[in-house]
Amino acid sequence: MASYQQTVKLTNKMIILNAIRKYEPISRAELAQTLNLTKATVSTLVDELIDDHYCYQIGLGESSGGRRPLMLKFNERAGYTISIDIGVNYVVGVLTDLRGTIIEKFFQPFNTHDFTKTVMEVTRVIDHFLSTTAKTPYGLIGIGFGIPGLVNTENDILITPNLDWRQSNLKDIFTEQYGVPVIIENEANAGAYGEKTYGSAQDLNHFIYVSIGIGIGVGLILNNELFRGTNGFTGEMGHMIVKADGLSCRCGSKGCWEMYASEMALLNMCAAQGESLSDVTLEAMIERAETSDQVKDAFNQTAHYLGIGINNIINTFNPEKIIIGNRLAKAEHLLKNELEQVIATQTLTHLRKSVDITFSQQHQHATLLGMTAFTIEQFLERQFYTDE
Ligand SMILES: [Zn+2]
Repeated sequence: MASYQQTVKLTNKMIILNAIRKYEPISRAELAQTLNLTKATVSTLVDELIDDHYCYQIGLGESSGGRRPLMLKFNERAGYTISIDIGVNYVVGVLTDLRGTIIEKFFQPFNTHDFTKTVMEVTRVIDHFLSTTAKTPYGLIGIGFGIPGLVNTENDILITPNLDWRQSNLKDIFTEQYGVPVIIENEANAGAYGEKTYGSAQDLNHFIYVSIGIGIGVGLILNNELFRGTNGFTGEMGHMIVKADGLSCRCGSKGCWEMYASEMALLNMCAAQGESLSDVTLEAMIERAETSDQVKDAFNQTAHYLGIGINNIINTFNPEKIIIGNRLAKAEHLLKNELEQVIATQTLTHLRKSVDITFSQQHQHATLLGMTAFTIEQFLERQFYTDE
């Protein structure tokens, strides 16, 4: 067990490092003042943090009278993270530094329900990233996976309705293979956290991230925190019923939102209207909408149901903002008008007035950035963990 002094020291180091991350560049004197610690304590602990490569000194800052102080910055190059978003019809991964800046990205359309093939593809992506990295003090600090399914707070994948995985021990497989901590999270929860940490919602306390790919998932930031519910299963709103006795969903129910407002719903509609199946991809349909009224109409219908579900979300949570992310965010220009029309006519006035509906500028990055944020935070917590 750590001694009391040891615990206080580690806690102070963590607080100082987090302040450097938040306020950089910052001097030792400013840290002492901001954190209400003695200058001697700050100086000793900062020297240790520098020795351990967590931060470094840059040139001289502004003086408030005396000697110009040395400024401190977080060392984003102390290590790196890998985050992987496994979609139903793609695999996308990023290599980032410890500031969450993307160093390299890998996108691969990938359409299989085969768990083993997915593991092989992901291994290929990770090995590719590892082959490009330079040596850093901490190397690869962890791997994060965003998954379209139910993931509990222990990182176990319970079901993946649109992937049909029989097996789902991703965490064990990759922990063993790479010898680093592996985090698994629902992709919409991760997307919400990515927007909160690095995206367009850093200053917001209540917002909802709606991830629309083949299915629909929702991530909730409420009271400034990711709301996970009892088991981590919040946000399965793709399966809220928007049409009584409607189309059969893979979850076993009927009339689920994702049967009407997802990428899958859009592609099915386009195929039913005579678009040849082999050509039906989201990217191709965005192009076809320029010339085909039928395809344009399919986007309109998708937007209409998107609005109906978002209306329910706004009326339930009274958020400051709704962020529409993942694949369908690419079609913003084809969805926006009809969606806004539905909200304008159906959502309760007082709730509608205070909400801003936007499409994610991160497109497919929000989930990856959320996983990156989880990986970095857990790494730093491990470094300064005490068993007190
Ligand atoms: Zn369903």
